[in-house]
Amino acid sequence: MKLKDKVALITGASRGLGLATAQLFVEEGAAVICVARASLEEKIFVQEHFRASPKAGYRRVDITKPEEVKTLAAFVQERFGRLDVLVNNAAVDTIGSVEDTADEEFRRILDVNVYGLFLVTRYLMPLMRKSGSGSSIVNVASNIGLMGMGRRVAYTTSKGAVIQFTRSVAIDCAPLGIRVNAIAPGAINTELVQQFFAGHADKGFRKQVEGWHALDRFAEPLEIARGILFLASADSSYATGSVLSMDGGYTIGKW
Ligand code: NAD
Repeated sequence: MKLKDKVALITGASRGLGLATAQLFVEEGAAVICVARASLEEKIFVQEHFRASPKAGYRRVDITKPEEVKTLAAFVQERFGRLDVLVNNAAVDTIGSVEDTADEEFRRILDVNVYGLFLVTRYLMPLMRKSGSGSSIVNVASNIGLMGMGRRVAYTTSKGAVIQFTRSVAIDCAPLGIRVNAIAPGAINTELVQQFFAGHADKGFRKQVEGWHALDRFAEPLEIARGILFLASADSSYATGSVLSMDGGYTIGKW
C-alpha cells in the first residue's frame, strides 16, 4: 500500500476526479478527509460511498471563505494532529472570451481556482509542517493551463496560475521536506463533461474533441487519480515543482 497510515485531504471530493482519488487513496491505506461545497444530495452520496470505510469522512467547506478553511484546519488538527497529503482539486469552469466573460464571472473562477487553493494551502500548511519530510501537495491544473484555448479565458488563466503557484510554493517548501507538484490532465470522463456534451446541440462534437487528444479518447477518472497517487506517494520522492501532463497526448500537438 502506497499511502499506509497517511492522512490525506482532498478538495472537491464529492464527485468526479476528487471522489475517484479519494477511493483510490482509501484503497492505498490512507485516512481521507473529503472536502467539497456540495449539495446535501452529494454529501449523502459520498457518505454512502464510504459507508464501509471508517477511513474516509466528509466536510462541507467553501474553500473561498477563510473562516471555513480555518475551521477545517482546526478539525484536522483536533482529529489527526497532522496532514501528510493535500490534494487541491476543487475548481469551477466557465466558457467565454475576454469580451463576453462578465466581470463577476471572471472573479468567481479566480476566486475558487486560485484564491481558494491559496487559502487551503496556507491554513493547512502548519499541519503539513508537522508531518515534515515525506509529505506532499498535489495541485490539479489542466492541459489548458499549459496552452491557450479560445473562449476559455477565465479558466485557462486560473489553471496557468495553479502551475506558477505550484512552482513557487515548491521552492518555499523544499527546506521543510514538503514536495509540491501539479498534474495537468486532458479531458476526463466525469459527470460534468458528460452533461456538457449531452446538452450540446452538435452530437458529433464530443468525438471531435476526443480527437484533439493523440490517444483519441477522454481519460477515465481513475487513470488521472493514479497520477495523483504517484505524486502524493514516495514513488515520486525526487519530484518537486513539476507538472505531470496526463492528457492523452493533447499538449504534444497532434497535427
Ligand atoms: P467537478 O465539477 O465534477 O467537481 C468539482 C468539485 O469541486 C466538486 O466536488 C465541487 O463541490 C467542488 N467545489 C467547487 N467549488 C468549490 C468551493 N468553492 N469550495 C469547495 N469545493 C468546491 O470537477 P472534475 O471534472 O472532477 O474536475 C476536478 C479537477 O480536475 C478540477 O480542478 C478541474 O479543473 C480539473 N480538470 C478537469 C478536467 C475534466 O475534463 N473534467 C480536465 C482537466 C482538469
